[in-house]
Amino acid sequence: STRVHWVPLVNSGELKGVVAVFHDISALKRVEKIRRDFVANVSHELRTPVTVIKGYAETLLSGALASDTERGRHFLTIIDNHASRLSGLIADLLALSELESGDNLLKLESVRLESSVRQSLQLLELKAEEKALVMRCEGMDRVGPVFADRKRLDQVLMNLLDNAIKYSKIGGTVTVSARPAGDLVRVEVRDTGIGIPEKDLPRLFERFYRVDEARSRERGGTGLGLSIVKHIVQAHGGSVEVSSTLGEGAAFSFTLPKGDRLG
Ligand code: ADP
Repeated sequence: STRVHWVPLVNSGELKGVVAVFHDISALKRVEKIRRDFVANVSHELRTPVTVIKGYAETLLSGALASDTERGRHFLTIIDNHASRLSGLIADLLALSELESGDNLLKLESVRLESSVRQSLQLLELKAEEKALVMRCEGMDRVGPVFADRKRLDQVLMNLLDNAIKYSKIGGTVTVSARPAGDLVRVEVRDTGIGIPEKDLPRLFERFYRVDEARSRERGGTGLGLSIVKHIVQAHGGSVEVSSTLGEGAAFSFTLPKGDRLG
């Protein structure tokens, strides 16, 4: 859509004509709509856990459960779970807004990819064991260091690996691999899980986009993980890709610049 401004042309107090100035405001409107949707989404996401916490806390406070410790514990567990959800959501929102503000400069250095991968795998070991998953790490010796912000790289790997585990079937396999790709290194996280319908693939990296809202929530997802991944990778000058066969698994990959150029 367009907005027109009429600007009078005046010379020594005399009107010489008018100039029409056309502003294209469709881009502006689009940004405004994205912002409004985002605020609505955030409010919605925050309201659910708060409502649950308040409800169970009030029930406990009413004293009706003082005699039934088991039920009381169960309610406290629900409160605790929803409080964790809230704090995860807030951490993700802060990470996103920091990345989007753009004034958060990356602390780039030469990073050994393998150390970041190993650390993430270790942190997720318990979750992987709970689902009896095989976690593999391949091809790290085929690539040199990458040029990256170590903390951000850790976050990318954690988000992708956490998803790979979350959407895996019991006894599945998760593989992290790396290979050189020209000036870049391509890192891939592949799982043998539930997969993603083809129609959802193009929108997957959007904020709050989920294939199955109920299932994502139930598995503790915020719907922000992949958009954080995309922001971080793009800030490094890399790109993200996803491919999947429904029911057979998914593969997420990203590129990073090679690290040996500045050393
Ligand atoms: P969430 O916190 O819901 O996992 P993400 O932004 O990390 O949010 O992912 C967005 C959606 O993409 C998820 O809700 C899920 O539907 C889908 N998804 C992400 N990773 C995988 C995967 N490895 N296998 C299947 N689906 C996935």
